[in-house]
Amino acid sequence: MLVLMKAHATAEQIQEVCRKIEKMGYRAHSIPGSTRTAVGITGNRGPVEATALEALPGVAECVPVSKPYKLVARELKEESTVVDLGDGVQVGGRELAIIAGPCAVESRGQAFAIADAVRTAGARLFRGGAYKPRTSPYSFQGLGEEGLKILADIRSEFGLKIVTEAVDHESLDLVEKYSDVIQIGARNMQNFSLLKRAGKSNRPVLLKRGISATLDEFLMAAEYILSEGNYNVILCERGVRTFADHTRNTLDLSVVPAVQQLSHLPILVDPSHGTGRREKVLPLSRAAVAAGADGLIIEVHHKPDEALSDGNQSIFPAQLERLMAEIRQIAAVLGRRVAGD
Ligand code: PEP
Ligand code: MN
Repeated sequence: MLVLMKAHATAEQIQEVCRKIEKMGYRAHSIPGSTRTAVGITGNRGPVEATALEALPGVAECVPVSKPYKLVARELKEESTVVDLGDGVQVGGRELAIIAGPCAVESRGQAFAIADAVRTAGARLFRGGAYKPRTSPYSFQGLGEEGLKILADIRSEFGLKIVTEAVDHESLDLVEKYSDVIQIGARNMQNFSLLKRAGKSNRPVLLKRGISATLDEFLMAAEYILSEGNYNVILCERGVRTFADHTRNTLDLSVVPAVQQLSHLPILVDPSHGTGRREKVLPLSRAAVAAGADGLIIEVHHKPDEALSDGNQSIFPAQLERLMAEIRQIAAVLGRRVAGD
């Protein structure tokens, strides 16, 4: 159930609606829009009794939500969410967010060299895992807190916003402390207790699509985060598993307009994990932006042959420069621009 307020409803009237909802034993989520505020209700097991709410001053109408997810739905919020990271860096809206960096932070020297290249290419956000969810327990697992400290130093040295993954509650506590955006990886998309914990954070969350998740499952995972009060969620398509063996995953670009129809949340595309092959990153980046993605997350390495993870899909710094130049041109056609330009 959604309570739609009248365009001129006062803050006091909105608060009264929220109080009433909480008194009924539910949770109220007040979501301001450009023309009116909508109040979402969660925590109800059955239908909510609308009459009591409709009678309150400032209420235009109560509408049932037709989808299983509520807070992520466009029905709740017509205009697209823009996640503001400060210093003029936004994700969603007119701007395209380009996040670039290595798969993993391997050493201070490696991370700084790549950060320098990322900054030179004009990206404003830096990625790099300090906690790596690896298929094999014998593969490099990340530098942990030491890696997070390197990332924090990169933020102060280059002015880049930091996006890094949390794999469990313990790492989330630390990632929250050092990063600007908490990444929840594909393998954890349905780790519901981790999603709830991320929902209690005041940091934005980048939620990657699970390797075999349907669109409904993807949006329900995001709903977990919003339902705990964190409305700053950025979705990310990173490829799903299919019968195709010419790529690591099959990058499902059709999910971009599908998400945008159903949800107000921004959606990025990860052509690195989406293809697994360096030479396919540029063409799929072009296609993702042309399809309407709100940005890209790209793996870059100055010495990919020596990378401790995902070297095959990491592009060289010079390739990132070319990618940025081409994306700028495609963005212009669409009336958008690369964030920070
Ligand atoms: C990553 O971004 O390095 C990563 C592990 O991604 P995913 O969760 O999409 O596999
Ligand atoms: Mn990776």
